[in-house]
Parts: sequence; structure tokens; C-alpha cells
Amino acid sequence: MSRRVVLKISGECFCPKDSRGITMDSVMHLAEQVARVAKQGVQIAVVMGGGNILRGGQFKAANVSIKEATAHYMGMLATVINGMALQSAVEQVGQETRLMTAFPIDAVAEPYLWRRAVHHLEHGRIILLAGGTGSPFVTTDTAAAQRALELEADVLLKATKVDGVYSDDPVKNPHAVLYSKLTYEQVRQQNLRIMDQESIAKCGEHGMPIQIFNFRTEGNLERALLGESVGTLISAGQ
Ligand code: UDP
Repeated sequence: MSRRVVLKISGECFCPKDSRGITMDSVMHLAEQVARVAKQGVQIAVVMGGGNILRGGQFKAANVSIKEATAHYMGMLATVINGMALQSAVEQVGQETRLMTAFPIDAVAEPYLWRRAVHHLEHGRIILLAGGTGSPFVTTDTAAAQRALELEADVLLKATKVDGVYSDDPVKNPHAVLYSKLTYEQVRQQNLRIMDQESIAKCGEHGMPIQIFNFRTEGNLERALLGESVGTLISAGQ
């Protein structure tokens, strides 16, 4: 069976470092890498974040006139905007895609239907999963874990701005150690913050490996998509 991966890319992958919004050069670079791997037969589902545009949490203190749930839906919509940009970029490099949303936006995307998603993957289409879980108060990390499980992916890849999981905050602690491998149990015991505990526990329960790596390091994304060891791998055994 072909390798199947769920790739979680945060909103910051859609723009240069320390920037916001969408920069098509960044999106094209992302698309080129993903498309190259898809051409080698890897089935790829991308779950995109929206933090480059907005996160629901940012309105919490600043503006009480936006209800928290509304703000989260705005965040989910931000992921759809990113999804549309990525779809254009992936098509530009000649790879077939489908943009699927967790809640209906019929004019631009098809609804996420599990069976249909599997069908697209089996036909070599890169599926772009926007809208998170479709429910407020969680993040797209939760959505990525959920989709990895239901799509029976071989691994959940999380592209981040750090090299992997450290024993402590490497910015504050120069002695922080970068782990190449961890177990779900170690992540829990050491209270390492990678994604929400519930999602990690779910992945652990179902033996879904999670690989965390720095997408800004050239070559990392393709290596991770192809199954090479970059960053930190979290799995059942050391
Ligand atoms: N969001 C949500 N439910 C979801 C996924 C996302 O409410 O299932 C909202 C939430 O407000 C979140 C925002 O959408 O902050 C953007 O997603 P995220 O923060 O995960 O983006 P990233 O940090 O990965 O760029």
C-alpha cells in the first residue's frame, strides 16, 4: 500500500519569517515540495492552520464585542483562505488537488466526507483540509490528529518553526536538549507541549506516530514526507 501522510502546516508556512498574511512565494515553495513528493506516489492530506491571518484566541482580551465562538469561526475561515491559496499554488505546479472544508462553503470547496477524502487520496490527489474540525475552541492540531486517525495515515507530520521537541524552551534555556525520539508516555510525563494533550493521547491510543520538524530548514519537508527521520518522532516505542 502507498505511504499516506497527514501534514499539518501552521499559518506561518504561508508567509516569510516574522511576517503575516499570505505571500505567494512562500505558498509556491510549499506547493512545489508537496507536489514533488506526491508525484512519487505518496498520498498527502494537508491540514492547514490560519494563524498568519487570525486565531480565535486573539480577540479574547482585546474586544469583548466578538463572542469567543465567533472568533474561532473566523479563525476557521482563515484556514479556508489559506487552503484556497495553496490549492492555486499546487495546481500551478501541475498536481491535482481537492479543497475540502469541515463546514460547507459550497462556492469554493467540497464538504469533507471521509469516504470521498480516501477516494481522492487513492487517485493521487493532494487533499487540502480546511476549516479545522468545524467546531470552535480547538485548534487545527486537533483537526490534524483527528484526520490522521480517520484517514489511517502512516504518520502525522507537524511542520513547525522549531527543530523538534526540546526538554525545555531552547530560547530561555541554552542547555535544552533536542529529542530525536520520544514515547507518548514521556511526552505526557514531562508535560512537553507539542499539541493538546487529548490529541496526543488519542494518537497514542491508536499508535499514530507524530513527527515534528522545522519546515524552514531546506529539504526537511520533503524528507519528512518521504519517511526520513527529521526532527522528533513520537511513537509507542523508543
Ligand atoms: N479553529 C477552531 N476550530 C478548529 C480549528 C481552528 O476554532 O477545529 C480556530 C481557532 O481559533 C484557531 C484558528 O482557527 O486559533 C486558526 O487555527 P490555528 O490556531 O490552529 O492555526 P495555526 O496556529 O496552525 O496557524
